[in-house]
Amino acid sequence: MDQKERLQAIIEEKRQAFITAADNIWGTPETRFATEKSVAQHYHILEQEGFALEKGVADMDYSYIATFGSGSPVIGILAEYDALGNLSQVADLPEKKPVEIGGNGHGCGHNLLGTGALAGAVAIKTLMEEENLKGTIKLFGCPAEESGYGKAFMARAGLFDSLDLALTWHPMDVTQAWGDSSLAVYQVYYEFHGTSAHAAAAPEQGRSALDAAELMNVGVQFLREHIIDEARVHYAFIDAGGESANVVQPTAKLYYFIRAPKLEQVEPIYQRINKIAEGAALMTETELTIDFDSACANYLPNPALTEAMHQNLKQVTPLELTAEEIAYEQKFFDTVPQVTKDTLYARAQNAFPTATEAELKEIATMPVNTKLFPYQITDKTAGSTDVGDVSWVVPTAQATIGCEVQGTPPHSWQWVATGKSSVAHKGMLMAGKMIAMTALDALLDPQLIEKAKAEHQQKLAGKTYQSPIPADVVPK
Ligand SMILES: [Zn+2]
Repeated sequence: MDQKERLQAIIEEKRQAFITAADNIWGTPETRFATEKSVAQHYHILEQEGFALEKGVADMDYSYIATFGSGSPVIGILAEYDALGNLSQVADLPEKKPVEIGGNGHGCGHNLLGTGALAGAVAIKTLMEEENLKGTIKLFGCPAEESGYGKAFMARAGLFDSLDLALTWHPMDVTQAWGDSSLAVYQVYYEFHGTSAHAAAAPEQGRSALDAAELMNVGVQFLREHIIDEARVHYAFIDAGGESANVVQPTAKLYYFIRAPKLEQVEPIYQRINKIAEGAALMTETELTIDFDSACANYLPNPALTEAMHQNLKQVTPLELTAEEIAYEQKFFDTVPQVTKDTLYARAQNAFPTATEAELKEIATMPVNTKLFPYQITDKTAGSTDVGDVSWVVPTAQATIGCEVQGTPPHSWQWVATGKSSVAHKGMLMAGKMIAMTALDALLDPQLIEKAKAEHQQKLAGKTYQSPIPADVVPK
């Protein structure tokens, strides 16, 4: 058995502990920074495995750094465990039905993500002990990936500065080393305060905060024509004043997400939106408070490390599914709309241009897509992730494991329903193996790290990471 086979065997030997932790986290879905029960599942394993544990880093109660070993290289592994609001869903049921109306749910598979990363850290630590390998492993427990951005606060606190590289993964409906970028984002609250008055008897005495919020949104609507195409600006009403239409609304609060491919492109849009908000306050004689919530940087994929992950994915794929598992997943695949299913053929064709029609049809109709997709380093973006901030500090790589129902998106009820299925577990363990194997590559091959660092410097082109989160903003 070679060292990489041994890593895989270690994860298989301890598989039940990881599965139990992931299922327990699924059962107590917690959002943003309030991940007390979820992180406890990680602590339980990390304490048993003998990691040095620093709890509550970067002003976040439920974050941690678990360390093993000493000296160079220093390899970071990133774990997440936060859930999403309003995504409660009965497990294993192929129809939308919440356990608790309005409750939280693991719609992004972070119960698997965090525990898979943890499995990777445990495996590489065990092998390092068995073979007396030199180096340091640091597993980061990162709350609030979905919104709030724990890693961005950790990056601001300099917690990734001592690393040589960072590795992570994400559950998805396709298996692929991740060569795309992500959007940088600022998240900001705009709160207006006016004066209430009888809306019919004394409207002249009222100053409407709701009017201010509406005027701000109209102003931003006009702004959209004068920003770069790739930017995205969206908002939610946190407070629309009240339910009484006969009152001039004295309060209103908006939550804005301002996104663009690069951090430096977000800042000028943010400044213009602030001016619009100030203008709305001026027009309505209301008071404006701007409350910066959080931010994260765009992701910089590292070619050398992403390639190393791809090579390791070749060794651990495909996910082997039983006939029973395929039948289970098929019931969920049946819920995917035809219009989405139609895109899966094109996706397969794009990835495998030389495949025959029959082969493409087979790939596009698998309830779980177990093919390893080729990857490309691109500037393509979709959502945002705080892995972006880590990628500015150190060379970073991540991969997706296709253990979700093909054609279903993140943040869907299907992801919650299948979040503790045996296929989800297999995907999680595969991710742990891939992370441990890539960590081993870095431990044994100083040239890989050198190459990754040279590429990282090239990508930064003289820039250094500046946290987009102002110094006075705390995680909340
Ligand atoms: Zn996610």
